[in-house]
Amino acid sequence: MSVDFPVERIMKRDLLECAPSMSVREASKRMCEAGCGSIVVVDEGRPVGIWTESDALSGAWHSTADLDQPVSTFMSTPVQSIPAQTTLGEATRHFRLAGVRHFLVNDDQGHHKGIISQTDVVRSQGVAFFMRARIVGSLIQEPPNCVEMDTSFGEVRQLMLERNLDAVIVRSGEHYGIITKRDVVGALSQQKIEANAGELASFPLVTIRHDATLLQARDVFIQNHIRHLGLMDDRQMPIGLLTFRDLFDTVEHEYVNGLLPELELQTERLLQSQREIARQVSLTDAILNALPINVFVKDEKGRLIIANEMSAKTTGRPLAEIIGRTDDELFPPEVAKRLLADDARVRSANQTLVREELLDDGRTLLARKCLVQVDGAELLIGASMDVTDWKRADALMVSSHHVLELIAGGSELTVVLETLCRRMETHLPGSSCSILLLDADGQHLRHAAAPSLPETYALAVDRVSIGPSAGSCGAAAFLGEQVIVEDIANSPLWADRLDFAKQYNWRACWSTPFFSAARKVLGTFAISYPHTKRPDYNDLMVITHATRMASVAVERWQQITELQRLATTDQLTDLSNRAHFLDNAEVELRRAGRFNRELVVLMIDIDLFKQINDRHGHATGDEALRVFSRVLGKETRAFDLLGRIGGEEFAVVLPETSIEAGLQIAERLREAVEKSSFVFHDGPSIRFTVSIGASRLQAGDNLDSLLARADDALYRAKHAGRNRIERA
Ligand code: GH3
Ligand code: MG
Ligand code: MG
Repeated sequence: MSVDFPVERIMKRDLLECAPSMSVREASKRMCEAGCGSIVVVDEGRPVGIWTESDALSGAWHSTADLDQPVSTFMSTPVQSIPAQTTLGEATRHFRLAGVRHFLVNDDQGHHKGIISQTDVVRSQGVAFFMRARIVGSLIQEPPNCVEMDTSFGEVRQLMLERNLDAVIVRSGEHYGIITKRDVVGALSQQKIEANAGELASFPLVTIRHDATLLQARDVFIQNHIRHLGLMDDRQMPIGLLTFRDLFDTVEHEYVNGLLPELELQTERLLQSQREIARQVSLTDAILNALPINVFVKDEKGRLIIANEMSAKTTGRPLAEIIGRTDDELFPPEVAKRLLADDARVRSANQTLVREELLDDGRTLLARKCLVQVDGAELLIGASMDVTDWKRADALMVSSHHVLELIAGGSELTVVLETLCRRMETHLPGSSCSILLLDADGQHLRHAAAPSLPETYALAVDRVSIGPSAGSCGAAAFLGEQVIVEDIANSPLWADRLDFAKQYNWRACWSTPFFSAARKVLGTFAISYPHTKRPDYNDLMVITHATRMASVAVERWQQITELQRLATTDQLTDLSNRAHFLDNAEVELRRAGRFNRELVVLMIDIDLFKQINDRHGHATGDEALRVFSRVLGKETRAFDLLGRIGGEEFAVVLPETSIEAGLQIAERLREAVEKSSFVFHDGPSIRFTVSIGASRLQAGDNLDSLLARADDALYRAKHAGRNRIERA
């Protein structure tokens, strides 16, 4: 590793500075906030000292008041600087010589622009740097132990033992050899205990100059496969003996010393990141537990390694107890088997699995499982949520659509309401649903739909009066409010109707009125149960949907009925209008033709009607038309078809009627009109007559020909003097 780069490359640039008067407390705070190990004390733009973590350690802080003292009292002075271009090698020597741990780094103009610490150097360089930077002479503490050639083995051994030596140098004039512990052992093994030092020693002693670097010494050790090295001064005299271990002990010592603050810093950072991780973990836990879904993670052996409170609940055990366990240990065998089969599918195909699970209690879970790779491990992540309410809402929507389609398609009201009841019963297991409609008089209810109740029920409830205590439905319609009877046996609303309830096996009955857009009660939607029951959220949802649809169905039906009436009825007389009369007559005619039945048509025209208008006014004329239509209604039969086909012209179809019978009816009608009179708005009593033409259905007739013949007959009746009948 190169040492020849300038310190400015590794110096810290974000220098923390403070005034000499700043308190120790404040200075420490700044250092913590900035994550710096030192703060430079600057006075009038000039660095006058430095306060470091070491100063903080060595300070004698007895009370918190001590911390209010100025940092200048405790700072290290003077602050020494080195130029930015100083190499690391030079910087290291400067550190050693100055005995400081920090240098300010100055630019060419002498302004400080950064700071460098011993630790920075260590971090940049490592062991090899120390070995290169340090000379071997600095390691030698004592002069070498030398013996002469003729020193006896015993004396050598004694010396090494007493001084705890690894080796001694043997001098032979200007040459040197060495005796090591190993040589002593060798002598013993060869029984050379009589030998002297010269015979025991290895020659020559391998040496190195005292100003060589540790790195050079290391290379010599390694090349010569030796463990001792003589250190020679400038005069080639031995000044010490260096062992291989000394070398590394020293280096290690230096290195570790240099690294210690760094290690402390790293440890603090580690602790800090552990705290951060712990904070993250508890935040993640809080989020997981706040989620309305089950979340879990399993390891490769199927053991739970993460789970939230919600998923602990599904196992019925506390969260702490389920971690580390497998599905086999947490669920009944059947359930565990299913879950494990799912896991196996996900693991074998590495596919995300999404599916719905129907639980025994009727709830539905939507579950999703997938595999993720984390640090080479395959983890299975699962999430599931209770979608019961959504499923119910969905099913309700489907039911609503079905019913709305029937309404839109123009189905009969009974069909719509019965379907509605049946559909709602599927959402309310065990219930019977029924619908009653409020009569036009607003006082009575009429049976409309109760598909799962016996037929007798329809008769029993038809035309029942509403009232504050007239059962659930009677009260709901009367009050215009939902009436929930959880227990019929104990409800005053049902006191008079216990037999009815018993007959149909009702114990609870909730009735909800439904309204027109104008907030008029249209009817009631009732749900009954053979047991006591209080509605829950789901039940209320169903009721809301059901009543909304019942409102739409009934109101639409009423509108259509009214529209039909308007489209087919003459407003003045309430008889069929011309188009409707002709349509019905056509049907009647075909039926008569098909079954070969007799049929008669009467064309009727009020005589001299213009005169009534002219003499008494148009309103009186209208009244005459109404009077006539009433007489006409009275003198004909229920199945006869009556119609106003022009201003004061009417037509009647008499099915199943011979011409003779038809003429009799016509005569009765003529007479009745002739005899009737009316007074309009205190005016004079008015009488009028009609002329009638009659024709009977003949082979080959169509409606036009039949009516044309009746018209001809009417024309003749007019010409013959009016107030009479002519037949075709
Ligand atoms: P005739 O005996 O020949 O039938 O004589 P008429 O006066 O009844 O016959 P005409 O057809 O000349 O007159 C029919 C009158 O009926 C003309 C018209 O003003 C009147 N009229 C038609 N529709 C209405 C109605 O809705 N209200 C009233 N008040 N008058 C009507
Ligand atoms: Mg006329
Ligand atoms: Mg007329």
